[in-house]
Amino acid sequence: MPDISRLGIHQGEIGPICDFCGARLTFGQSLPIDDKFSCFDCYKSKTGITPSSDGKAVPGLPME
Ligand SMILES: [Zn+2]
Repeated sequence: MPDISRLGIHQGEIGPICDFCGARLTFGQSLPIDDKFSCFDCYKSKTGITPSSDGKAVPGLPME
């Protein structure tokens, strides 16, 4: 489970905060890198990978 102290409210729901740029995210928007949360832009810049979930994220649904 994510550390609750790192969660924020975004778009009316609790979600993680990007560990790289501090952006507030929904769980649908967040992308895990190891034990960190990342936003889409940071994920791309850190991994060089474009997540396949782009554009069809479902808020509140945990992503692998
Ligand atoms: Zn970020």
